[in-house]
Order: sequence, then structure tokens, then C-alpha cells
Amino acid sequence: MNVILFGPPGAGKGTQAQFIVEHFGIPQISTGDMLRAAVKAQSPLGVAAKSIMDAGGLVSDEIVLGLVKERISESDCRDGFILDGFPRTTPQADALTSLLGGLGKHIDHVISLDVDSAEIVQRLSGRRTCPSCGKGYHVAYDAPKVAGICDACGSALIQRNDDRVETVQNRLDVYREQTSPLKEYFEQRGLMRHIDGNGTIQDIQGQICSLLKGSAGDRP
Ligand code: AMP
Repeated sequence: MNVILFGPPGAGKGTQAQFIVEHFGIPQISTGDMLRAAVKAQSPLGVAAKSIMDAGGLVSDEIVLGLVKERISESDCRDGFILDGFPRTTPQADALTSLLGGLGKHIDHVISLDVDSAEIVQRLSGRRTCPSCGKGYHVAYDAPKVAGICDACGSALIQRNDDRVETVQNRLDVYREQTSPLKEYFEQRGLMRHIDGNGTIQDIQGQICSLLKGSAGDRP
């Protein structure tokens, strides 16, 4: 089962992707996580991407496609994967279609998490991340047991540079201009499934489960 999680920044793609990983046993491919790892490692790719990411812009299609191509070819993606944060432009979607075609694969579902703009700003500003293990939290909706500390590994949580108020608006503009046209792209191909992303994390998990149930790979 090959799934794309689609939606604006702050829609909950990363949170729901973690749930799908645990429940359906397929890996998450998050281009944002891969780029943040490259930034942390200060690789040439990371150095090139950092200022673009901090400003809320999009890293070049070429760089992102290179990362996805390599990751999708790994053996754990054989029985399926969840793409989170990719594709974000029409050229990325076209390149994904031809990449998968060449591997004899296709996308089964594009799940759009539909969230109101006011809710998105609130979610992004409260978002916190563990810099060591990558686990995500929200100060109001999904708080760690001890404020500011990761439940999983005990590291101090941070706010991503691009979750600061001054960058959020730019990210939403970029989404509206470059990524939201993909809704039409996937609608036309009959792949788009809409989920109301305004509810609680558990509500949305329930909706995703019903949608994917019967698709394949659900664990007992
Ligand atoms: P995310 O964690 O998905 O919100 O991604 C964080 C940042 O990484 C984005 O604001 C972009 O700068 C960059 N990024 C992630 N995925 C992509 C992509 N598919 N295309 C271009 N840039 C991306």
C-alpha cells in the first residue's frame, strides 16, 4: 500500500504518518525529516538547504527527488510506504509518477488532511520537536509528560526555526501557490481522499483507519 499524506504545513501529516507506520507496518518517507537530518549533519546538501528551509521556501525539485528516489528503492519500502511532505510541486508529482512506473508501482491513496487556516497557525506555533529522536509534540494537544522534555529519549524539546510566526505565513503562501494545485492533479487521477483534519488526533486516526482498512497490510 503506497500512500501520500497531503495537506498544508501543520495539518498533522507527521503525527498521522507515525500512526500509520505503527498500525500498518509501512515506513514513513518524510522529505522534511530527511532534509533536517542533512542540515544537522552539515552535509553539502544540508548546507545548501538550510537557509531556504529557515525562510519557509521550497528546496529544489532536483535535490528532493534525489532523496526520494534513493529512499524508495530501499528494501523496507518493498511492501509500501507513506510519503509525508512530498510531492509539493507539479514537477515533483510528475517525477514520482514516472519513478514509480519504472519500478512497477503506483500510488494507492492520496489522503488530504483538510484543516482551517486559523487552526493551522495555532498548531504550528505550539509545535515542538525532539532534536535527538525526531518525535513531535504540541504544547496544548499532545504535550510531553514533563514540559519541554521528550518522553521517548529525555532530550530538551525545541521549536523548529520554520515554525516561528514570521516564517509560518511564508510557508502557507508557498503551500497555496505551489502545492495546493496538486489537489486538482490527484482529483483528476481519482486518487484523492479527503479527511476532516480539524478534530482530535484520535478522531483523525479513526478516519484514516476506516479509509485504509481493506487496502492491505493492516495488522490484527
Ligand atoms: P516539512 O517538515 O515537510 O514541513 O518540511 C520542512 C521544509 O523542508 C519545507 O518548508 C521545505 O523548505 C523543505 N521541504 C520538505 N519537503 C520538500 C519538498 N517535497 N520539496 C521542496 N522542499 C521541501
